[in-house]
Amino acid sequence: MEGLARSPAETTLKQHIYWEKHYYNQQRQVMADVKRVYTFGNKEAEGNGKMRELLGGKGANLAEMNLIGIPVPPGFTITTEVCSEYYAQGREKVVGLLRPEVEKAMKNIEKLTGMKFGDKEMPLLVSVRSGARASMPGMMDTILNLGMNDQAVEAVAKRTGNPRFAWDSYRRFVQMYGDVVLGMKPASKEEHDPFEELIDAQKEKRGVKNDTDLTTDDLKELVHNFKAAVKKQTGEDFPANPWDQLWGAICAVFGSWMNERAILYRKLNNIPAEWGTAVSVQAMVFGNMGDNSATGVAFSRDAATGENLFNGEYLINAQGEDVVAGIRTPQQITIEGSRRWAKAQNVSEAERRSKYPSLEEVMPAVYKELNEIQHHLEQYFKDMQDIEFTIQDGKLWMLQCRNGKRTGAAMVKIAMDMLREGLIDEKTAVLRCEPAKLDELLHPVFDKTAMKNAKVIVKGLPASPGAATGPVVFFAEDAEKMLKEKNQRAILVRIETSPEDLKGMLDAVGILTARGGMTSHAAVVARGMGKCCVSGAGELQIDYKARTIRVNGYEIKEGDWISLNGSTGEVYLGQVATQAADLSGDFGQLMELARKYSVLKVRANADTPKDAAQAFAFGAEGIGLCRTEHMFFEGDRIKAVREMILADDEAGRRVALAKLLPMQRGDFEGLFKAMQGHPVTVRLLDPPLHEFVPHFEKEQRELAKDMNVPYEKIAAKVELLAEVNPMLGHRGCRLGNTYPEITEMQTRAIIEAAMNVKKTGIPVHVEIMVPLVGNHKELRYQKNIIDQTAEKVFAERNDRLEYMVGTMIEVPRAAVTAHQIAEVAEFFSFGTNDLTQMTLGFSRDDIAKFLPIYLEKGILKNDPFQILDRNGVGQLIREAVFKGRGTRENLKCGICGEHGGEPSSVEFCHFAGLNYVSCSPFRVPIARLAAAHAALKEA
Ligand code: ADP
Ligand code: MG
Ligand code: MG
Repeated sequence: MEGLARSPAETTLKQHIYWEKHYYNQQRQVMADVKRVYTFGNKEAEGNGKMRELLGGKGANLAEMNLIGIPVPPGFTITTEVCSEYYAQGREKVVGLLRPEVEKAMKNIEKLTGMKFGDKEMPLLVSVRSGARASMPGMMDTILNLGMNDQAVEAVAKRTGNPRFAWDSYRRFVQMYGDVVLGMKPASKEEHDPFEELIDAQKEKRGVKNDTDLTTDDLKELVHNFKAAVKKQTGEDFPANPWDQLWGAICAVFGSWMNERAILYRKLNNIPAEWGTAVSVQAMVFGNMGDNSATGVAFSRDAATGENLFNGEYLINAQGEDVVAGIRTPQQITIEGSRRWAKAQNVSEAERRSKYPSLEEVMPAVYKELNEIQHHLEQYFKDMQDIEFTIQDGKLWMLQCRNGKRTGAAMVKIAMDMLREGLIDEKTAVLRCEPAKLDELLHPVFDKTAMKNAKVIVKGLPASPGAATGPVVFFAEDAEKMLKEKNQRAILVRIETSPEDLKGMLDAVGILTARGGMTSHAAVVARGMGKCCVSGAGELQIDYKARTIRVNGYEIKEGDWISLNGSTGEVYLGQVATQAADLSGDFGQLMELARKYSVLKVRANADTPKDAAQAFAFGAEGIGLCRTEHMFFEGDRIKAVREMILADDEAGRRVALAKLLPMQRGDFEGLFKAMQGHPVTVRLLDPPLHEFVPHFEKEQRELAKDMNVPYEKIAAKVELLAEVNPMLGHRGCRLGNTYPEITEMQTRAIIEAAMNVKKTGIPVHVEIMVPLVGNHKELRYQKNIIDQTAEKVFAERNDRLEYMVGTMIEVPRAAVTAHQIAEVAEFFSFGTNDLTQMTLGFSRDDIAKFLPIYLEKGILKNDPFQILDRNGVGQLIREAVFKGRGTRENLKCGICGEHGGEPSSVEFCHFAGLNYVSCSPFRVPIARLAAAHAALKEA
């Protein structure tokens, strides 16, 4: 019972109440005598659409469709609670508990259909269907035509005058039941499903190609052979008694809740195991009765684009999943859809009409009814519907409806269209849109058909979404060169990236790395740039010397084209066509609604005026983190930076810093202008200095020449800077406290830039942030330098400016002593990358070695660098906010780690009482929507 044991501390109050309630339900269901079976049929139902938890999505909607007068074959649903009982108490006990209710419910179907289960003359056939609370399409099992046996098949043949149909149904039943209930398996890995082998053999014997070409006699032979195969593999006779069949099928559906693909699907979609599946038993209707029968699936709107167009597919003379199975080419439901299909397939109108006519053309009356029903269902459920239907001898039956799955683009369009149509209100429209799915809308995407035809050469982590295609280069400088000289953006392929590669990454169209996780340097930087990135593709064998990649039998040389899918982690061979993202009206309107309903503000992490402008365009309300060191790599300034680092003494450092001052000032001016008076948090220099110096002899020699000093001196200095554990070494405020002149220069650049911009009439709101503080005295020292420098500038200019000084909370000690730190700090910004690193003791650059195993073993539920660790890091955040505000009542608190753009972490930040989250520009819309969701959930 995973989940029930969660401590209340981990959860918000709402979640906690939910678990309590659920736990209570679990207890009660075992003790009390509860109703286990709910019948439906002929416009009546014991259940209804609100009872998804108990009846599963399918069962609840089957009941509801009856209640609103839609034609549905009668049946009954066994509750999800019985699934839990099945796992807790075993098969026999559960069958015993169910028997009286199921027998009674079966009588109800018999009464409504005039047929009888197990009867020799009028045998009732049923389907046994699975249905969880959340839809898990295709994950569990369904059995059709149950009740078939040697007598029933004859009766059906006689009654319908259609023996082929009768034997086709029997054949399907034995096959499905054999697969699902009796566990028929291929004899070896190389072989097919044993039944499919027998069908193939039969077709070969007859010299025909299609299943539909098999005669009644063939089908009889197949049923016989199928049963023999069952006997051979299981040692038992195929069950002939319909009641034995029924109990076998019901228990198999419960059993399928724990099959591997269902478990995997639940894991990927965060569906708890204890929810269980319901089982619906329903009278069969037959789409395989001849040319006046059909079966199909449809959507009330386009699930890919959101267009308000009824669409779907059907097949004449077919049953169940024939439509989606891909054996026969399904036809379109509407004329419009059919014409579009024909156009895409290069089928002429004449051929379309004769060979692939739409349902609208073939059965106009049934089509009209279907169209009315889909419209009715959409109006009723107020969401796009995914429906299943069957036409038996000209009569339409609905078999399922549910809110349809859709792409990010369709999600936004449908929500906003329905809002305009007055079908849903603003809050519903906001809640309908899943924040993480917005991502698909923000980046260029691959053309869908092009992607389908592409060859996948390797799969890595979807580190930064989007679609990129370009020639491979292995070195950052080659990416720069390729852009400059050939005006072509390359795909930069690295074992891993380092800050030195930044410019090359910027010039590349996408980044592919063999090492590193979702928060590796490449991933974080790429996301910040909105650049497509696949990281940690461990199978890549990158040979820098030969300039080749070997992977899964492919060899790719420098200059060869590949394509990256940053949303799936797939890497394709060659050039796959892309199309630009469309951020038109609906998206903007949704964002406005998000702002209207959220409490948290959303800022962006942006280091350059260009990023800031992008963030602003996405609706950021300020910059929560500007990493000044990223500016150090631009253009020629890295030289001045290195000169500063390699200087022998303070005087030497000051000479170099003086060169940097105007460059930094210029950058800050750009940032302040771009943000138009919104707050801008500038962080003082943070990384260890070793990151800025060349590590190889060749570049060190060049630098020595440039600086006019002996090479040995440079080499010795670089050696001196090396640290065993640089992440915990000489970095953050430790730099500013050992070299105060760096803080002085940066403060001067910030204050002067702000004053310059203010002079032009643009308001400026400056926040200076000191990194890596663990002890309030560290901050005190830095604040003194900042204040003194600012005062100096004010005196020089005979003017003043408001500014704030605050700190990052990223060392656990800072969180614990937040009450002392808040005496100095005017704001806190939680740097949750370092805070996670130091709280868990996980080096985020090495996590790829053990994280996958930890996830697999369930030691960790998520990558803590992606989804905030609420129990650990989250508690430190809450404590720090609480203590900090104890000292300084209105202490502004925000988060600037990567978590600031991750929806569930944003939700946590809302409930932890933060004022804002700050994230990469391309995650700003996601965070804005997540912030609105959190606020609406609380309300
Ligand atoms: P899934 O959840 O995988 O969609 P379903 O339970 O919906 O599985 O059933 C699989 C297929 O069988 C669907 O195409 C459905 O329409 C069809 N089907 C289910 N029950 C019946 C029935 N009583 N009569 C005719 N077709 C049915
Ligand atoms: Mg279905
Ligand atoms: Mg940090």
